[in-house]
Amino acid sequence: MHDPNCIFCKIIKGEIPCAKVYETPEILAFLDIAPVNLGHVLVIPKEHLPDIWALPPSLAPQMLQAIQAVGTAMKAALGATGLNLGMNNGASAGQIVLHAHWHLIPRFANDGLTLWPQKQYDDTDAMERMATAIARALT
Ligand code: 5GP
Ligand code: ZN
Repeated sequence: MHDPNCIFCKIIKGEIPCAKVYETPEILAFLDIAPVNLGHVLVIPKEHLPDIWALPPSLAPQMLQAIQAVGTAMKAALGATGLNLGMNNGASAGQIVLHAHWHLIPRFANDGLTLWPQKQYDDTDAMERMATAIARALT
């Protein structure tokens, strides 16, 4: 259920304080201590589950509802006009805390943030091969 060495589990248990914004029996949301933009919120399951692949699909409706509710409140409270929703899974993806969490980053017109640098495929064949490889691996 909880991992005694996990910083987010310690927050859930109240051993470490947090700036809480939302809570249900299954989910907690609080401000990220080092925000990308001020008002950056983390939404986490209360159960210690490391990443997206460990989450039970039964939790998805509550998670979506929490993300929508908190995102709506962020727009109202902060005047945000947009929201970046992100989730890092695995160290190579930048995941530092190994307790699944969604980043809700409020966005404002001309806020200066440039997320999501993009690459290019060599050609449409290369793109098609990539899609086929992923689709085949789904079976
Ligand atoms: P990750 O890189 O794992 O996706 O993101 C972890 C996030 O947790 C980081 O954005 C970091 O600022 C935040 N964080 C780490 N430790 C704490 C903490 O003790 N309290 C809060 N509120 N946020 C934390
Ligand atoms: Zn944990």
